[in-house]
This record gives sequence, C-alpha cells and structure tokens, in this order.
Amino acid sequence: MKEAEVRACSAEGCGGTFVPCRYNGHKQTHCKACMEARRRMQQRNFAKVKYRNDAAYRERERERKRKSRQAAKTAELLAEKEKEAAAAARSLRAVTHVVTGLLAQFADVDDAEALTEHATALARRGRRLATAGCVVVGGHPKADVEEIFNPGFEAGRARPRRSL
Ligand SMILES: [Zn+2]
Repeated sequence: MKEAEVRACSAEGCGGTFVPCRYNGHKQTHCKACMEARRRMQQRNFAKVKYRNDAAYRERERERKRKSRQAAKTAELLAEKEKEAAAAARSLRAVTHVVTGLLAQFADVDDAEALTEHATALARRGRRLATAGCVVVGGHPKADVEEIFNPGFEAGRARPRRSL
C-alpha cells in the first residue's frame, strides 16, 4: 500500500499538516482548519458587502438581530424568575422546619407521628377559626395546612395546585 503524502500547510503561522485530496490535491495548499477559516472569512465579507448595498437584506438582518436579542432577554428573565422561585422554595422549607421544630417543642413530642397528629389538630382548629372570620396571616382561609405538615395526608384528595 502506497503511503499517503503529508504536506505542510502554507498558511502563515499555522504549522499544521494535511493529507492532500486524491482528486484535486495538486491545488491544495492549506490544511482543513485554515480552509474553513478562510471560508468563514469570505462569508463574513460577503455579508458585510451585502449589508451595505442591499436595503432589504439589511432590514431582514436588523429584524433577525432584534428578535435574537429579544429571545436572549426573555431567556434571561425566565432564568431569573426560576432562581427566585428556587430561593422562595428554600426559604419556605426553612420556615416550615422552624415551625415544625417550634410545634414539637410546644407539644413536647419528638416523633413524627405524634407531631403530625398534633399539627393536624392545630390546623383543623386554625381553619375552623379562619373560616369563622379570624385572619391572622394572609392567604386563603381554607388552604390545606395539613399538607405542609403531612404531605401524605389524604394525598388522593389533595386539590391540584394552580401553578404560579
Ligand atoms: Zn493551516
């Protein structure tokens, strides 16, 4: 088997080598990376001239860039909102842990089942008072507080939550 010829790339400062194509190798002077770089440069120059001379193309390009900026902005806002939602969820979890700890201390219990029973009774009592018109904190008076303390509590009957 004939060994393939290896040629040095003639681009300044490249120093790469390439195996010339079997069919038009006599014309090849640059490696693949340099050829691609040149092709991109030619496309860029072509677009630059077209942008300067073709009003319709210019308008299309402006519109495309405007849409692209808008999409990037929207994505940024969404990411920001997700971050805030995650922070809110973390903070709610922390508050829930504190409240659970306080309840455990008040009720002087240290096992999950007893505390769940206690919290559920408190929630019923609170809901009864809220429904009767007592408002201590904001929110819907019939919100299922039990679900916070006991996520498995009658899960089958749990109402679907409206997403934010
Ligand atoms: Zn090269």
